[in-house]
Amino acid sequence: MSDAATPTPGRPTVAAQLRQLPQVHRLAESLPHAIPGVYRVAASQAVLARARLALREAPNLAAERLAHLGEEAAALAARMASPHLDRVINGTGVILHTNLGRAPLAEAALAQVDRVARGYSTLEWDPETGRRGSRLSHLDEVLPALTGAEAAMAVNNNAAAVLLALSTLAAGRSVVVSRGQLVEIGGAFRIPDVMRVSGARLVEVGTTNKTRLSDYASAIVPGETALLLHVHPSNFRQTGFVESVAPGELAALGREAGVGVMADLGSGVLFPLTMGGTDEPAVREVVAAGVDVTTFSGDKLLGGPQAGLIVGRAELVAAMRRHPLARALRLDKMTLAALEVTLRLYREGRQSEIPLWQMLSQSADRLAQRAGRLRRLVVRQLGGMAGVHLAVRRTTAPVGGGALPEVMSTTAVLAVRSESWPAEALEARLRAGTPAMAVRLAEDAVWVDLRTVAPAEEREAAGCIARALAAP
Ligand SMILES: *Cc1c(COP(=O)(O)O)cnc(C)c1O
Repeated sequence: MSDAATPTPGRPTVAAQLRQLPQVHRLAESLPHAIPGVYRVAASQAVLARARLALREAPNLAAERLAHLGEEAAALAARMASPHLDRVINGTGVILHTNLGRAPLAEAALAQVDRVARGYSTLEWDPETGRRGSRLSHLDEVLPALTGAEAAMAVNNNAAAVLLALSTLAAGRSVVVSRGQLVEIGGAFRIPDVMRVSGARLVEVGTTNKTRLSDYASAIVPGETALLLHVHPSNFRQTGFVESVAPGELAALGREAGVGVMADLGSGVLFPLTMGGTDEPAVREVVAAGVDVTTFSGDKLLGGPQAGLIVGRAELVAAMRRHPLARALRLDKMTLAALEVTLRLYREGRQSEIPLWQMLSQSADRLAQRAGRLRRLVVRQLGGMAGVHLAVRRTTAPVGGGALPEVMSTTAVLAVRSESWPAEALEARLRAGTPAMAVRLAEDAVWVDLRTVAPAEEREAAGCIARALAAP
């Protein structure tokens, strides 16, 4: 017989201990009434269920736990009472942090989301005629103007853009891709998988490190080959003996052979970007090189909302707009509003208003200055420095988001150490705070990178750090 079922003199039985547990409504009633009742009840139920389980497993360990039931339930109820999707202060320095929501939006984009979503909008209504309009028409002027393409559209994300393009243009036929470009991006987007789902047949050519134009040329079967696909190696770079074919060269081959050419750019910058020796092609250059269809993300180097942009030849874009998947992958009004205004900022030469470019353009000196200011704010909030070590350090950080993998930007961090908490505990306390704060752990310290902390967030960040440092 197990210990749990054996009554021992002087020890309460499991049944007796279970009877000692408060009733749900009593526990719920004892929690702070600032928390809505639904969460107090739900948290009490969850905490009591856990306590019953713990009692059955280890009947004599639970006494201490019982004493803390109220605190446990109050903490859980408080967590339940705030939105699960919530804001985070990004102290990692990774600007396009996929887990933290990639690109923050520009003020102008946010204002338009508010304006459009607060009431009704011209989403699918043409005020000139009073008739039904198309939700894609909102991008019809700005996207071609920015990219030089004949036509354009946008869907839920770049993965959706690639899926829609392949499904429309290549289902039942074959698509030629270099073995060096059968990439996986972000853990779930794999070119061979997307290809399978679209109904297109993947024809691999070349080798991992070298693919030549002649490899593509000899894979083309008239009537069977639908597309030559170029995939941008967004999140990795090959060095050494490597050879690949540029989208422009593929376009020339495609024209000659009467086969379509598509480029998945991934990040997709709207102006040529030279940073740390990288060569991100501007979308306009790829279009000008004769590529028929080009896809890229809205929330990577565009600095807008999650979206997948498709630009290219008018009849191909028209066919994609008519495909049944277009409806399933379409954008909602809030994303469309943010995307249109973000694109307009580029069109008007106002890209410096986009947070991504603001963060990227801050010099290491300026960031070091801001790290010094953050240090002073933390000291002030703590009311001293006893047992705490705060140092401004210069270091490097990646851009993230599967963009510019070889570019490390020089940055400055506030390195935080405490004599009361190991760095891991400090990091956990920052995550548990309100707002939560994401940081890097390095050299037995917590590093807060100022590049991704907005100047307007500094005071709040200092408060988070001071609370995390507060003595046990
Ligand atoms: C990021 C990326 C994707 C996926 O884009 P999402 O907008 O995240 O769906 C697809 N292809 C390439 C080359 C990428 O870099």
